[in-house]
Amino acid sequence: MNKMTIDHVAFKGKRALVRVDFNVPLDEQRRITDDTRITESLPTIRKILSEGGQALLMSHLGRPKGKPKPEFSLRPVAEHLSTLLDRNVPFAEDCVGPKAREAAGALQEGECLVLENLRFHPEEEANDDTFAKELAGLGDVYVNDAFGTAHRAHASTEGITKYLQPCVAGYLMQKELDYLGRAVGNPARPYVAVLGGAKISGKIDVIQNLMTRVDALLIGGGMMFTFYKAEGREIGKSLLEEEKVELARKILDEAAAKKVNLLLPVDCVVGDKFESSAATRTVDAAAIPKDWMGLDIGPKTIELFSAELRKAKTVVWNGPMGVFEMEKFAAGTKAVARVLAEVTKGGTVTIVGGGDSAAAIVQAGLGKAVSHVSTGGGASLELLEGKVLPGVAALSDLDE
Ligand code: AMP
Repeated sequence: MNKMTIDHVAFKGKRALVRVDFNVPLDEQRRITDDTRITESLPTIRKILSEGGQALLMSHLGRPKGKPKPEFSLRPVAEHLSTLLDRNVPFAEDCVGPKAREAAGALQEGECLVLENLRFHPEEEANDDTFAKELAGLGDVYVNDAFGTAHRAHASTEGITKYLQPCVAGYLMQKELDYLGRAVGNPARPYVAVLGGAKISGKIDVIQNLMTRVDALLIGGGMMFTFYKAEGREIGKSLLEEEKVELARKILDEAAAKKVNLLLPVDCVVGDKFESSAATRTVDAAAIPKDWMGLDIGPKTIELFSAELRKAKTVVWNGPMGVFEMEKFAAGTKAVARVLAEVTKGGTVTIVGGGDSAAAIVQAGLGKAVSHVSTGGGASLELLEGKVLPGVAALSDLDE
């Protein structure tokens, strides 16, 4: 990565404005139900504080749509961070204006503070220049550790970088870019990608970009049925994106012409309804009954995919193989998680994209058994599509 990182800055006496991704899930009592995103940024925060710098932590939470809404306040995060760091972490009731300036002014060396939700102001997502300048006025240097929002050009991820120098990547950002960047640019081979999830539409660009780069592309999840349809098969009541059938056909033709090893499931588990109480059957790909719907990959496919994954030296996985939220249709997703854990032990680099596949691997208790679980669903997909993330492009170049 040709960008400056947190290791290139001496933080002593400096006020660092740190964009973190504290968009954590809260329950109805506003308790944090999963603090992974907070704990993942601790190394960055600790580094700044231990050097005698001050860290002003800014984040969004939920979708308050540009208005202050108490249910999306970051106050519970500041309280939780106090526990994690074992010190008082003050909270500023706004991220700009007098309240923010006052709280920032009261900070001492080696202390940090959480600013209120950036998205209480519509200017954040609009990447408003005046707002970006106001945010920048609170600090001396800028650190971006929010990989999950790096694919968005917002005031706190992009606009702000025009007004602070240097702008550097935090440790979490660096780790994400190291793993995903290497997979995109210089993967150890064989390089195998596993794609699943509900729809083709969100993954077309990833499929097309990966097709020519990987040694094998394994496709499961709801999108497999649109490919089946393109092959002229009966798919019963399975998920279908009618308007994508043509595109699926083109992708299959292109894969054949370029001799891409694109593997579709050879069997699937079907249910008589989309419910956890559904009756189930395992059928070959060519024998999906008319009134049934495909909800998971079948055992022969698990074998086929596992064999490809065992040959790999780099694996990228995005999207569950079936409706893993229902136990009866979770076997395919769990099997992929297990094989990834197994090959990781053998030295294969295994990367799980954010979102549902990250949730699935954590649910299988194997989150720590793979090389890297990304904290950014959309951002990791955009990297795999070959796009440049605006929040990364905006950071200071190493030779600046
Ligand atoms: P995505 O957000 O596109 O990664 O999709 C994740 C969702 O895809 C999960 O909620 C799964 O339940 C769903 N999914 C996976 N396989 C199927 C399938 N065969 N039919 C319907 N939904 C599926």
